[in-house]
Amino acid sequence: MSVVKSKIRTIPDYPKKGILFRDITSLLLDPEGLALTIGTFVDRYTGKGITKVAGIEARGFIVGAPVAFQLGAGFIPIRKKGKLPAETVTEEYDLEYGKDVIEIHKDSITPGDRILLMDDLIATGGTMLAAARLLKRLGAEVAEAGVIIDLPDLGGAAKLKRDLGIEVYSICEFEGH
Ligand code: AMP
Repeated sequence: MSVVKSKIRTIPDYPKKGILFRDITSLLLDPEGLALTIGTFVDRYTGKGITKVAGIEARGFIVGAPVAFQLGAGFIPIRKKGKLPAETVTEEYDLEYGKDVIEIHKDSITPGDRILLMDDLIATGGTMLAAARLLKRLGAEVAEAGVIIDLPDLGGAAKLKRDLGIEVYSICEFEGH
């Protein structure tokens, strides 16, 4: 959606040279932009039987928690290694810039859960794929993945569909990296 897209600023060469960092803090600062972003997801997923929203640390928490609240669903934090206090399952993945490990609490899924997986942005899809694998390993059905921004040239959304059969919905797209 062009209003949401217009409120996202681009920081060149962050966190390293050649990356165009799509910064959602300018969107979150703006009351209209924030309401439009959360409202777009809520409209899309209302009545779809979502029982829990899983958000990926850290920007996936910002979008995921208010969407979960509005849907009357629960919220699951998917966190970087070592942050969750109870028993976890773990996946390693490649980032657009580096390597990382994410974890989820083992007891966060109950039988019959239909999960909406959320983050701010999908690039190569490494993070989203690892998160979806965690959810699937715990027996959850991932209904869809929702992001504010897709970078389609990096192929992440296509990969999620191809490898795990999960559709990625994005509010807007940016060309290139
Ligand atoms: P990926 O695993 O390659 O899909 O990368 C997605 C994760 O890295 C998300 O959590 C994003 O917040 C972050 N990320 C990757 N590329 C960018 C970018 N160009 N601008 C902002 N965030 C990015």
